[in-house]
Amino acid sequence: MIDVIIAGGGPTGMMLAGELRLHGVRVVLLERDLEPTEVVRALGLHARSIEILDQRGLVDRFLPLGTKHPLAGFFAGIDKPAPERLDTKYPHTLGLPQPVTERLLTEHAVEMGAEIRRGCTVTGLSQDDEGVTVELADGTSSRARYLVGCDGGRSTVRKLAGIDFPGEPTRVETLLGEMEIGVPWEEAMPLMLEVRKTQKRFGIGPFGDGVYRVVVPAEGVSEDRAVMPTLDDFKEQLRRVAGTDFGVHSPRWMSRFGDATRQAERYRAGRVFLAGDAAHIHPPTGGQGLNLGVQDAFNLGWKLAAAVHGRAPAGLLDTYEAERHPVAEEVLNNTRAQIELMKVEPGPQSVRRLLTELVGFEQVNRYLVEKIIAVSVRYDLGSENDLVGRRIGDLALKRGGLYDQMHAGRAILLDQTGTLSAGGWADRVDHLVDVSEELDAPAVLLRPDGHVAWAGSDQQELEAELARWFGAAL
Ligand SMILES: Cc1cc2nc3c(=O)[nH]c(=O)nc-3n(C[C@H](O)[C@H](O)[C@H](O)COP(=O)(O)OP(=O)(O)OC[C@H]3O[C@@H](n4cnc5c(N)ncnc54)[C@H](O)[C@@H]3O)c2cc1C
Repeated sequence: MIDVIIAGGGPTGMMLAGELRLHGVRVVLLERDLEPTEVVRALGLHARSIEILDQRGLVDRFLPLGTKHPLAGFFAGIDKPAPERLDTKYPHTLGLPQPVTERLLTEHAVEMGAEIRRGCTVTGLSQDDEGVTVELADGTSSRARYLVGCDGGRSTVRKLAGIDFPGEPTRVETLLGEMEIGVPWEEAMPLMLEVRKTQKRFGIGPFGDGVYRVVVPAEGVSEDRAVMPTLDDFKEQLRRVAGTDFGVHSPRWMSRFGDATRQAERYRAGRVFLAGDAAHIHPPTGGQGLNLGVQDAFNLGWKLAAAVHGRAPAGLLDTYEAERHPVAEEVLNNTRAQIELMKVEPGPQSVRRLLTELVGFEQVNRYLVEKIIAVSVRYDLGSENDLVGRRIGDLALKRGGLYDQMHAGRAILLDQTGTLSAGGWADRVDHLVDVSEELDAPAVLLRPDGHVAWAGSDQQELEAELARWFGAAL
């Protein structure tokens, strides 16, 4: 039997497929579309996602294809430079169109041995004590021990699993597309910047090869957002917002998105899990959705692999929702706040001016930036030690960078005392005796996702945590 079926081959599904393969799990990924999409939704990766790629030895595939952008303007477009000395090796955003990110994650998943089946639409599911049966639109079915719905905001898996998706519907809609413009950029740019002073949801920018990315607020909300806008829709809305349609023509693709904000009430129903947009949707402000999905997959992968191999301690699979639901809740909250701050009415504009002043304070700026780039995430693992639950940076060890030690996706006992032992867990946990000036603890136990499970120097305490996260000793 297949171990895990993943429904949906967007960034979340592809990341998860690669993570599961790292642990030898038999994975089949079912993707509805025959070809990868050319629609560019996400424009880049934030620090925590880049760190994750670094932890798996993949970062060198991504960095050369992207552009480093300074970390400014990511909170409601408030244009203050990021504070200095952010706690990450990657204090910038990596500009990378979503189709490129997806292609690189797909290549990795395939190299790792994941089976990707395109043109497969999941239409039904049923589960029992042993596994999940997934039905496809072509009348065939497949069975696996677990199913993960990574099938986007309109997730079929979520609906079939009976998981509610409470929240708020779309209230404002935006048109997005790539097209050419009929006036020289030197003429268009000043007008665009003038309009943007008050209309933050509008923008035009060169995207290479004479193509421009056009974003313009739509009037009202369409009845069916699956119906794509036309070039005339773009012209009409541009004239309304900017007084001219910039002579737009020759579109490459056109799309629309809303500001619906919803979160799955549960991330798990028996043997079925949700990750990425299937579990949460929110406006794209701050560029967080893809990053959030990739980070969901990174959290779930090693836990599901442990369950497949029969080594998951009781409750491990439930920590996925316990850890990731609050993180997405935070993102929903900050995107909702940003949408309010970007409104053109005098009230929101006043709050925006006040917040812009507050961002002048280094601590406020740091707090907001670290939230968006997700390096301040701390899972509540029940410890009072502030290090526990946090992800750890790429510490400089005597032997080199810590992230280089994480490529195999195994847990690590990083021991500066040289007195501890991974004992009966040595088959699952690498014991590194090494030191780093950047680590303020005698030893830390790092989970395969790089979050600190324990910090201290007591062997007995350590063994309790090893059992809690990795099951019984051999
Ligand atoms: C305008 C815009 C700009 C954005 N900018 C950013 C940004 O800068 N940074 C950022 O982090 N995020 C951004 N996002 C959000 C980001 O695009 C999404 O969060 C991300 O694509 C979610 O990835 P996913 O894999 O969870 O879902 P998706 O990318 O939606 O992938 C789901 C996949 O499932 C497939 N599928 C659907 N139904 C089925 C089925 N029944 N059976 C099989 N397959 C199925 C689909 O074909 C699709 O390939 C933006 C979004 C928009 C709209």
